[in-house]
Amino acid sequence: MSHVFPRHSHAALPTAVGGDGCWLIDADGKRYFDGSGGAAVSCLGHSNARVTEAIKAQLDRIAFAHTGFFTSEPAEALADLLIANAPGDLDRVYFVSGGSEAVEAAIKLARQFHLENGEPERRHLIARRQSYHGNTLGALSAGGNEFRRAQFAPLLVGMSHIAPCYEYAERAEDETPEAYGQRVANELEAEILRLGPETVMAFIAEPVVGATLGAVPAVPGYFARVREICDTHGVLLILDEVMCGMGRVGHLFACEAEGIAPDILCVAKGLGAGYQPIGAMLCAGRIHDTIAAGSGFFQHGHTYVGHPVATAAGLAVVSEILERDLVPQVRARGAYLEAALRDRFGQNPHVGDIRGRGLFRGIEFVADRETRRPFAPTTGLAGRLKKAAFAEGLICYPMPGTRDGRNGDHVLLAPPFIATEAELDGMVDRLERAV
Ligand code: PMP
Repeated sequence: MSHVFPRHSHAALPTAVGGDGCWLIDADGKRYFDGSGGAAVSCLGHSNARVTEAIKAQLDRIAFAHTGFFTSEPAEALADLLIANAPGDLDRVYFVSGGSEAVEAAIKLARQFHLENGEPERRHLIARRQSYHGNTLGALSAGGNEFRRAQFAPLLVGMSHIAPCYEYAERAEDETPEAYGQRVANELEAEILRLGPETVMAFIAEPVVGATLGAVPAVPGYFARVREICDTHGVLLILDEVMCGMGRVGHLFACEAEGIAPDILCVAKGLGAGYQPIGAMLCAGRIHDTIAAGSGFFQHGHTYVGHPVATAAGLAVVSEILERDLVPQVRARGAYLEAALRDRFGQNPHVGDIRGRGLFRGIEFVADRETRRPFAPTTGLAGRLKKAAFAEGLICYPMPGTRDGRNGDHVLLAPPFIATEAELDGMVDRLERAV
């Protein structure tokens, strides 16, 4: 019997004993293609020598020094590298141990900023329905997934949820994508006005929605309008790039494709690439400086903030991504993968939508392609697909549709950036057999 808490089910799991590039190997020697990196974590594959060496070298120097007393070389170097490549005026970095912690820190930073900026009434956080921003209580409160929230309600007060920008399910037939984007972005302004602008602290969204909807980018112009609305009303824009950031969608930061920069940006998964638990919150210097000039310090902190070994791993990961030019490679392989998915699944009567950017792709399954009617939840399509794919030696990330019946089950694909075209073809073969 395993004494480790099971993640989802109590079924016995195979034991992972090895990793080789895009492949995972279990104790029986079976090989699995890592088509989703768990959930968009393993951008460099599983046996990257540079990252492994960087971790070993850091362990030989110093494993831990509390940030209340010391900074460290890898933390400083990683912050410099992120800032040198970050959009807009993001120029301060706060290191944490994962995505939820990054979002948690962002929410608290936004709150403290307004307090010290003389606007203590700004407490409301606006997020989007069907969103996921993490599992700690603050991040869970921000998320708009009713199923996940229900057991822990009422959660943090002052959260509200507006529509996501989800063209496939929501755009009317006689509406252009641009008009649709403006319409849903304007829901943000309506919500700010409803709450009273002087009470709203921030809006949080994923530039490309990952887990909950399955690689859904916004339509052109949506985020530019969101940025404009936030600026008009003094509301901070927090972008959650925990899943879609660090090169995954063909830009180092996903918001580059939207031509905007947030006030606060969260990254995690791809930053450690699975080698170490690490996340980061980047913010504009003006936010940090307001707090520095006020109470002096961000009233937050965890024991492992800025961990030397984790930041050494992050430094090696980002250096690999940049020095091997993997971001343009993600764009090229992403286009190849999209073509393969359209070729193989484009005519399937149960495939409603194929979407995404870079090596971040989603396929949405529906009972009826014409009406876009999803399968009934009792069909359990996502769970069955996950099992069938795993049996085929493919790790992918299927998720059920929302319980309100607005969207269907989907599968998310997020293979390592180093996957060859032949490996991507093999992944699509396995997925086709599972489907
Ligand atoms: N935000 C987004 C968009 C995520 O996809 C996730 C994880 N799936 C998180 C936050 C939380 O990250 P973590 O699991 O590392 O706490």
